[in-house]
Amino acid sequence: FAPWVKPDAKPLIRFENVTKRFGDSTAVDHLSLNIFEGEFFCLLGPSGCGKTTLMRMLAGFETPTKGTITLGDQNLAGVPPYRRPVNMMFQSYALFPHMSVEKNIAFGLKQDGMSKDQIADRVGEMLRLVQLEKLARRYPSQLSGGQRQRVALARALAKKPKVLLLDEPLGALDKKLREETQFELMDIQHELHMTFVVVTHDQEEAMTMADRIAVMDHGRIVQVATPGEIYEQPKTRFIAEFVGDVNIIEGHVQGQENGLWRVKTSSAAVPLTIDDPDEVLHSGQAVAIAVRPEKMVIQRDPPGPSAINVLTGEVWDIGYLGDWTVYRVKLATGEILRVTRANASRFVENPIEWDEQVYVTFAPDAAVILAE
Ligand code: ATP
Repeated sequence: FAPWVKPDAKPLIRFENVTKRFGDSTAVDHLSLNIFEGEFFCLLGPSGCGKTTLMRMLAGFETPTKGTITLGDQNLAGVPPYRRPVNMMFQSYALFPHMSVEKNIAFGLKQDGMSKDQIADRVGEMLRLVQLEKLARRYPSQLSGGQRQRVALARALAKKPKVLLLDEPLGALDKKLREETQFELMDIQHELHMTFVVVTHDQEEAMTMADRIAVMDHGRIVQVATPGEIYEQPKTRFIAEFVGDVNIIEGHVQGQENGLWRVKTSSAAVPLTIDDPDEVLHSGQAVAIAVRPEKMVIQRDPPGPSAINVLTGEVWDIGYLGDWTVYRVKLATGEILRVTRANASRFVENPIEWDEQVYVTFAPDAAVILAE
């Protein structure tokens, strides 16, 4: 959490048992969620999981079929969008093409009846915040995609809402600009200490920016946690596979020894040993072991006789990514593991090559067990 977020305080936004149906289809399904004041909160999930619908209900553009949404002490039922201390920035930006940048930003302020001087001050503040002072007189058609995105952001922030909702805010930008803009968005949120709720289907974006992420699937929340917890302790196989790269090894629980799980698999000659004290499992249970690629170690020389979690295979292909090298290793079972290695030095002596026989190992606490 950023230092100004107080997770022990009363939540600012509360969804309680909220359901939204469109005809026969359920977009949001008995969902409960708390968001804290000042949080940078991301709703992450595949297309159609209900994230936009959830946000539109908070903005007041959709009415829940069941359940309640509260903001502070106010139940939002029946409160029209313009009366909510919430503003939304749409993916399309929806800028007015016949208005200059400054007029676009001033638009909502004028409607709210602010004085000319106050509006000029606020527009100046917003232009500075999004670094567009020099382009105040331009029209949207004279701006790049990234600059339009900033105008839309400045316009959404201008009224200083308590909560800003952003629907795929960086979706229209190319990869490099998207990455830069992620940090700018964080800087702006840090400066204002405003509560941001961002909808995205891009897991890297959510991981970079969020204090907490809610992963949604089929109208429900599967896990709400910090990016680190979601990555290191995914609750389900869906999350492990949706967030980051992962190797999944299927097997059956053999039992527990010294607090460590022993799991029989067809991938390794000896049962695997996994340190995941949070799981409650029984012998014979089908499980999936999830290991992130950077937590696997690839080597040419056979590991010693006391080594555990040893998988053998051959290098199927190698991808050089600059900061990392990715090895895809094919096991005798036909499974392909993905192992990454950081390129810490510019020169590697005697590097591992294609088609080589290799050993892949991982530590018991590098893996998590997921009940199937
Ligand atoms: P995306 O990332 O593609 O925008 P999403 O996770 O935001 O997806 P929603 O737009 O919330 O998903 O849609 C959830 C489900 O509700 C989908 O099956 C969608 O078809 C349905 N839905 C959304 N709005 C309506 C509507 N106005 N009428 C009927 N069905 C709708």
